Amino acid sequence: MRYEAVILDLGHTVWGWPQDADAEPVLRRSYGAIAARLRERFPRAPVPEPAVLRQTVADALKAEHEAFLRSNDGLLASGRWSEARLDQPRTDVLYRELLRQMLGVELDDALLAWVIDTSLAAEIELLRVADDAAETLRALTGAGVRVGAVTNTYQTERGIRRALRMHGIESYFGALVVSAEAGYRKPHPSLYRSAAERLGAAPERCLYVGDRVLEDVLGPKAVGMKAALCHQWRQEPPGDAPDYVISRLGELPAIVLGG
Ligand SMILES: [Mg+2]
Repeated sequence: MRYEAVILDLGHTVWGWPQDADAEPVLRRSYGAIAARLRERFPRAPVPEPAVLRQTVADALKAEHEAFLRSNDGLLASGRWSEARLDQPRTDVLYRELLRQMLGVELDDALLAWVIDTSLAAEIELLRVADDAAETLRALTGAGVRVGAVTNTYQTERGIRRALRMHGIESYFGALVVSAEAGYRKPHPSLYRSAAERLGAAPERCLYVGDRVLEDVLGPKAVGMKAALCHQWRQEPPGDAPDYVISRLGELPAIVLGG
């Protein structure tokens, strides 16, 4: 086989969110449950209405992302991305700090984990896996190819695993690297190296697959991997960086196993 391991991006590569997906009912239910549980646990804390709580959390995540972009001041969009600061705060640290500021309370780990899972539930519940993903993963792993994933996300590894499990594809992944827990986001080299190492494959023997040129092609290539840009969910102009441009995940077995 041409590659020992395939490492996939998740968002808009393995799964995506249909344009008509309506997050509103899930968000309303989630934040209703969070506000109720916080009021019950901290009766004296100023727990806001669910809509305000939801807006506050959304604003905090947005502010974090904007600060990240600002701190890199155009570096990511230029050829100088390797100079960018790519650290990412852990999602549990972000939420703990936010709830401390908002309510003046300290959440224990179990309650904090539940709040995070519940607040990010819409993203997981609304996602759809590519129709050829399971078949592709089965063909690759069945032929002895090791499969991993590297994802930029505010979800915890627990949340990502839950989503993979819900769609029946968790067992195919021998390594999962989640930016919100790794402390860095793509294209930081440590994430790709960590996935390859966990799969027991040298970077040169790995094919990385994703929908973004910077995070999924230039980043993995900088650590020695080959890279395929996938146009199944998003169609970024490839330029000349990708080793392959594919239109569907189903094209992978021929590339990976052939030759
Ligand atoms: Mg993606």
